[in-house]
Amino acid sequence: MPPELPKAKIAERIFLTNDLIIIKIKPEIPFTFKHGQYCTIGLEGVERPYSIVSSPHEESLELFLELVPEGELTPKLWQVKVGDVLSIRPSAKGVFTFDDKYPNQFMVATVTGIAPFISMIRNYLYRGLDSHTFYVLHGASYQDEFAYKDELEKLSREHENIIYIPTVSRPEEERNKGWQGEKLRVNLIVEKYLKKFSLDPKSTLVYACGHPGMIEDVKQRLVSKGYKVKEEKFWRE
Ligand SMILES: Cc1cc2nc3c(=O)[nH]c(=O)nc-3n(C[C@H](O)[C@H](O)[C@H](O)COP(=O)(O)OP(=O)(O)OC[C@H]3O[C@@H](n4cnc5c(N)ncnc54)[C@H](O)[C@@H]3O)c2cc1C
Repeated sequence: MPPELPKAKIAERIFLTNDLIIIKIKPEIPFTFKHGQYCTIGLEGVERPYSIVSSPHEESLELFLELVPEGELTPKLWQVKVGDVLSIRPSAKGVFTFDDKYPNQFMVATVTGIAPFISMIRNYLYRGLDSHTFYVLHGASYQDEFAYKDELEKLSREHENIIYIPTVSRPEEERNKGWQGEKLRVNLIVEKYLKKFSLDPKSTLVYACGHPGMIEDVKQRLVSKGYKVKEEKFWRE
């Protein structure tokens, strides 16, 4: 680890599937960020950016990671244990943050792309605000990949202004047995839900986060109709 970088200790790790993990880390330095931003962590000199799931008021930094089997960093992160230490860049970065100008916040994510939206919603509720409506569309191949489904379903029962729509893209597979929800790629249902909730471009900000192909398709569908689309691509195709 480069000696000049601050450290962050792994406080908790929760495996969701073999390929998805939530980790909570505690930086040794005061670490400030805006909900929606990312931090850059590293191990043995390999560093990558990760959107922060937690809200700035929380004690630890929560991250939701997907294993890229041929990748440089994630296979190493799959080996770390509670108490191990990562490097962390001292400042959070990014402009994929909550924009309060639009009353309708339409959030589209693939798998780990849900991370910044959880941060935005947790922070919004923590601040006691309630003048926006959040529509969270979450796509994954399999139902066991919706890490924050319980949290979002609970919030949507408690708050009229939080609407959660998970969708699986491989409904016919055994792993999705019993699935009752939407059964298409998330980019294929955006227009249906904008229409269903009568969300016009003037009052609605669309956020898209995660898979670059999903983001490009959402932009193609919505920008020409006048919607502003804010994007965070997790990798390049
Ligand atoms: C702003 C930002 C925020 C990010 N936030 C998250 C996050 O919250 N959670 C998360 O898991 N990742 C996130 N990423 C991706 C992350 O930074 C790494 O790219 C990823 O973890 C792979 O790192 P690696 O070193 O294992 O693979 P690398 O050696 O960097 O990559 C190997 C190859 O896989 C591609 N790739 C990277 N990620 C994926 C993926 N998920 N699926 C398919 N191919 C991929 C790369 O483009 C590259 O071609 C974010 C990226 C950016 C730019």
